[in-house]
Amino acid sequence: MASRANSPEFRDVAVHLHPYTNARKHEEKGAMVIERGEGIYVYDTAGKQYIEGLAGLWSVAVGFGQPRLVKAAADQLAKLPYYHSFAHKSHEPSIALSEKLLQLAPGKMSKVFYTSSGSEANDTAVKLVWYYNNALGRPHKKKIIARIKGYHGITIASGSLTGLPYNHRDFDLPIANIMHTACPHHYRYAWEGESEEEFASRLAGQLDEMIQREGPDTVAAFIGEPVMGAGGVIVPPATYWEKIQKVCRKHDVLIIADEVINGFGRTGKLFGSNLYGIEPDMVVMSKALTSSYLPLSALLMNQKVYDGIADNTAKIGTFGHGFTASGHPAATAVALENIKIIEEQDLVANAAKQGEILQRRLRALADHPLVGEVRGVGMIAAVEFVADKKTKAPFDPAGAVGQYCFDRCQEHGLILRNLGDTVAFCPPLIIDEAQMNELLDRFETALAETLDWAN
Ligand code: PLP
Repeated sequence: MASRANSPEFRDVAVHLHPYTNARKHEEKGAMVIERGEGIYVYDTAGKQYIEGLAGLWSVAVGFGQPRLVKAAADQLAKLPYYHSFAHKSHEPSIALSEKLLQLAPGKMSKVFYTSSGSEANDTAVKLVWYYNNALGRPHKKKIIARIKGYHGITIASGSLTGLPYNHRDFDLPIANIMHTACPHHYRYAWEGESEEEFASRLAGQLDEMIQREGPDTVAAFIGEPVMGAGGVIVPPATYWEKIQKVCRKHDVLIIADEVINGFGRTGKLFGSNLYGIEPDMVVMSKALTSSYLPLSALLMNQKVYDGIADNTAKIGTFGHGFTASGHPAATAVALENIKIIEEQDLVANAAKQGEILQRRLRALADHPLVGEVRGVGMIAAVEFVADKKTKAPFDPAGAVGQYCFDRCQEHGLILRNLGDTVAFCPPLIIDEAQMNELLDRFETALAETLDWAN
């Protein structure tokens, strides 16, 4: 007879410490074990179907079970399963992918450095910014400014860039030389009657003051997601990026665009930087780069940054940085095929088209008694629940309503992500109109039940 302990749900509990999970709660609750995926759907071990409304972790752009990606990986594994890129070595998939990424990237990028996760790519960005300024004989120009509620990963440097309390708390983060400026969330932080443009000017002014106060010769870079993701899907106010970039340029501060969620069509443009006219010095990509079929991330840099770094490697004799898996052949081969699918199926246009339904139907819920704000662009969106629509007062305890709604969604076959009392939407870019409407129908059913419970 199958015992509880022998079930996959509790075999997991016995052996696995989970990311972003309350471990003690997990011991009681057991794991939700997902067995397979197809298109926009995943299935648990009981065969129950779920719409993956967050594309895994904002990442499975081309959907689950895409045979072309499986074949690209298998073919490459059969031919050359592994090779590295240290000491002048290379292989065709990483060369071809670099060519492709440089052709597609926002701004004028010159070189690509490969890593395996968004965190590693941002960690590398921090190290390269420091290395670059040392190379230029500016040893004091080291501070990097990120934003409150920005998400850039969880390693020691990238976790420091992240501006969320639970990523710092008890991890002894942030490290020195990482600072956080204001979050560009108009609904939460604008003054009464302040327009988006006025709010953007105020935030750019605050950034300018921060740089002046610290001393421009100590501030090296500014990092931001064009549209913030894990911090609550925060769409910047009109003119924000234009004004922020102006401040950065004025003080010779590099701009790093973290396109880990935004990149490859999510916002209805190929990159979030394209949407806001951002001209970055460095660009970080991951997630939809391979649709997360294999771990891969890329850090792109412009000629100016590359030249500083390259000169320094010549001076020192080598570049003392690199990962065993940098540019892994199977991962880069999958990325190439994944980008081909995004182009052939015009998934950027589909994100704009289906995103229109997502934004329209969610905005129609703005008058719902629990809904404070609906926000998003293209195929990324969020609904924030509040206790008082007028004062915008949050629920107490925070997160319980979001959690309840998330649980109800799951019961109705829809996996979303609750970030406190904000529920996020980020479905696979292949979703069609009928599926998008089905996703929203399931959400509305869950929302109605959440209202009954909250009352
Ligand atoms: N940057 C952004 C914008 C992200 O959303 C994430 C992950 O969600 C990361 C970086 C970190 O990526 P990873 O989880 O692969 O380390």
